[in-house]
Amino acid sequence: MAPPIRSVYVHAPFCARRCSYCDFAVTVDPDGDAGGWGEALAAELRQVEREGLFGPASLLTTLYVGGGTPSLLGPGAMDVLAGALGPGRLSAPDLEWTAEANPESFTPELAKRWRAAGVNRVSLGVQSFHEPTLQWMGRLHGAEGPARAVEAARDAGIANVSIDLIFGLPVALGRSWTEDLERALAFEVPHVSLYGLTVEPRTPLGRAVAEGREPPVDAERYREEFLLAAERLAAAGYEHYEVSNFARDGLLSRHNGAYWDGRPYLGLGNGAHSYRHPVRSWNVRDWEAYRARVLAGESAEEEREELTAEAAALERVWLGLRTREGLARASLGPRGLALAETWIGQRLADFLGDRVRLTPLGWLELDRLAVDLDAVGAGLRPQAG
Ligand code: SF4
Repeated sequence: MAPPIRSVYVHAPFCARRCSYCDFAVTVDPDGDAGGWGEALAAELRQVEREGLFGPASLLTTLYVGGGTPSLLGPGAMDVLAGALGPGRLSAPDLEWTAEANPESFTPELAKRWRAAGVNRVSLGVQSFHEPTLQWMGRLHGAEGPARAVEAARDAGIANVSIDLIFGLPVALGRSWTEDLERALAFEVPHVSLYGLTVEPRTPLGRAVAEGREPPVDAERYREEFLLAAERLAAAGYEHYEVSNFARDGLLSRHNGAYWDGRPYLGLGNGAHSYRHPVRSWNVRDWEAYRARVLAGESAEEEREELTAEAAALERVWLGLRTREGLARASLGPRGLALAETWIGQRLADFLGDRVRLTPLGWLELDRLAVDLDAVGAGLRPQAG
């Protein structure tokens, strides 16, 4: 029998405007539509319950509200969500409830209301402290916004704060990656996530690059900034526990851990993905189309795929290599072990006890290394530990 769902992702699709590089399922609406959002989620939940997937007493260990910009929905949005999910699902004493926020809309009042509703972890979309860079990205919070937001979270009793930063930006912006890292470190938050700029064709940035108005991502700069950050954050006491994520005091993202461990999760909202081995499914991406469907009592699911044994094996290798847990040596077989030893010679990996783990240098080549390891049959062996 499939294990029960203990992790839920909820998508909040609204943003005040679209950032130049963003390819997420976003609806531009300066005020958001908290009422419509709550109504649609409640309708989708009723549908999911009818399908017998997720009963009112399914106790969650992690809940993650992402976006979009959840903080744009105003102070009452998390109460609305708690009402839709119901107390039976939210009563675990160790529930990790994360909500993403942008600094400009994460006010002291909103922070207090979120905390009262049950939110105990906030992920702040900071990206940079450099004004010209923030303007280039189309972000609204200004250089001082993050400090106000971190203070608001702490004053509300939310100490578990994560900060997102972006690296690999065009040199012409004059952004100093070192300075931005130091400003982020000065907050002494327990969690930092780093994302390299990627140019997606459907975005304003993608079009600007295609037309030659912006340069493509500089691969060497991307690599240097990633390695510099890995070194600086490690020196500041952060554990680099996954390609993009760093934590202190053991405050890893437990919700993301469910993704990386291959545990089942349910996604609610437009564009949200769900997984229950071996089936992965995703909801319709457009907010209005999603809303119309769920309010009509129909399923929000757009498509599903069943992972083949081969695809599942590659995914196990890829997911294993992306975290500091790595893979059990016993799962690799002689050819996998021989390959891992060549990686160690190239400083792409190391052995820790009975595990093989990638180094930051190895993480820069994660996709290639996972494919190479899978090709020698490593993922087909059951994991030992
Ligand atoms: S705030 Fe986040 S989700 Fe919204 S447009 Fe910007 S990057 Fe995309």
